Amino acid sequence: MILKTPAIVLKTIDFRETSRIAIFFTQDHGKVSGLLKGIRKDPKKFGSSLERFSVNDIVFYQYRNSDLHLVSQCDMKEYFYAIRQDMSKFLAASYVAELVQAIMPNEEKNLLVFQLMLDFLKSLSSKTEIHSLVHAFQIKILLYSGFRPHLDTCLKCKKKIQAKAKFSLKDGGLICLQCPTFNTEVYMISPGTVASILHVERSEWVSVLKLRLTESVKRELKYVLNNFLVFHLGRQLQSVKYLKR
Ligand SMILES: [Zn+2]
Repeated sequence: MILKTPAIVLKTIDFRETSRIAIFFTQDHGKVSGLLKGIRKDPKKFGSSLERFSVNDIVFYQYRNSDLHLVSQCDMKEYFYAIRQDMSKFLAASYVAELVQAIMPNEEKNLLVFQLMLDFLKSLSSKTEIHSLVHAFQIKILLYSGFRPHLDTCLKCKKKIQAKAKFSLKDGGLICLQCPTFNTEVYMISPGTVASILHVERSEWVSVLKLRLTESVKRELKYVLNNFLVFHLGRQLQSVKYLKR
């Protein structure tokens, strides 16, 4: 079957002598791996250099018995020049591309995640508050991929959380100070941080951009979100290094 869809490049890998494999997050088919035959021998064969996180219209032949499909056309629509001019922005976009590749299953359509990535890349091009954007992206992708942490009530006694509480990576959410946590890695998290996460989950991307985070909330978000993602994925992402700054 021949399919056409807008697609964001997550990663490319050289394949054999002259070809390249690209992993895309597509609008209509989710995460798709495609083979671009001969692209390294004849770069003009496709209307795209397949730069990471560029947006392209792709045409591919979908094989039934393989996860790797044959891409026959690839035309660049958006390059995000401003992101490539700025090292911090470039690293943030690289992290997001790696996160989407790690967290999303193959060939499952998820329009919310596709739109989230586009919104993130457009905002990153024009904004300077990079860390808040990355945190908003992390919160949204956890929600849209079904990994949302449990934050509304205590996981043990089910009471509503209104004060400082313990965030348990293993249990995937909050445990109140009255309930015991044995042999479990926990991190103290303030009501302000919980409120920020819930706000981002509920809001449209444009409202998320207006959110101002205090330094202590940013610190807690960074710890909780990064570690929660590592716990879920079972590994640290390579490009997460920049988040340590
Ligand atoms: Zn409790």
